[in-house]
Amino acid sequence: MARLEKYEGIEPEKWSETYETEPQGLKDQPWFKNQVVRFQVDPELWSAEGFLSTLQAVEGQMDRVREVKNGPRTIDLDIILFGDRVIDSGDYLTVPHPRALGRAFVLLPIADIDPKLVFPNGISVADALKKIDYRIEGMKIYQD
Ligand code: ADP
Ligand code: MG
Repeated sequence: MARLEKYEGIEPEKWSETYETEPQGLKDQPWFKNQVVRFQVDPELWSAEGFLSTLQAVEGQMDRVREVKNGPRTIDLDIILFGDRVIDSGDYLTVPHPRALGRAFVLLPIADIDPKLVFPNGISVADALKKIDYRIEGMKIYQD
């Protein structure tokens, strides 16, 4: 957040707590930390693709390392939503994030920020949480 707010037209507005998340798929690795941040992004200055390239630049500044798919990484900055826009720029950018609605570690932090949020497809965060199997204990999220 500190690195991103240095860019003109990007302001962190609201953010969730940081959760600890059980690894999905590849089980034999440390737990993840997950947080969702809502940024106010000036639409005159930023496209969603431009914003993603800046997230990737910040990952680079933070020496992002990831050797195995779904394995441990030092940092991963993804776009979950970009207002109510639906975007499919080939492999480069899909918004909403295609796996967001199935992931408790995305939905629970979104609910902290905006419990009434509805995805552009009409599914609310609350309904999406009802459809998936997960457990939360304190700040720990369990989901296979
Ligand atoms: P992960 O799927 O674990 O986030 P990466 O961070 O390596 O893996 O991202 C893989 C690719 O996903 C990136 O090259 C990026 O272009 C693409 N991508 C597509 N949609 C999105 C999105 N909504 N947010 C972030 N990256 C995305
Ligand atoms: Mg990513």
